[in-house]
Amino acid sequence: MTSLKYLKNVVTLALDKEKCTGCGICTKVCPHQVFSIVSGKAAIRDRDSCMECGACAMNCPFCAISVAAGVGCAYAVIKGKFGKGEVCC
Ligand code: SF4
Ligand code: SF4
Repeated sequence: MTSLKYLKNVVTLALDKEKCTGCGICTKVCPHQVFSIVSGKAAIRDRDSCMECGACAMNCPFCAISVAAGVGCAYAVIKGKFGKGEVCC
C-alpha cells in the first residue's frame, strides 16, 4: 500500500519521552503507523504521515503525546462529509 503523506514539517505532534513507558498503545491506534517502539520507548518514525486525528494522544495512558487534533486534514474531511465545508485538506 502506498504511504499517505501530508504537508511537510507542519504537524503539531509531540512526544515526551520522559513520560513514555513504552506500552505500545500508540503503535496500535495510529492509522498511519507514525510510531514505533525503539529501545523500550515510543519513537516518531514518520512525522509527515500524521494526519492529526488525535487517537494517539487520546489513548496514551501516560499523557506522553500531544497533538492539535481538530485542525488538520482529518478534521476537514470529516466536516466535509457532514456538509460543513469542502471535502479536502
Ligand atoms: S501510548 Fe504513550 S506511554 Fe505508551 S508507548 Fe505510546 S507514547 Fe509511550
Ligand atoms: S494524531 Fe493520529 S495519525 Fe497522528 S500520530 Fe497520532 S494517531 Fe497517528
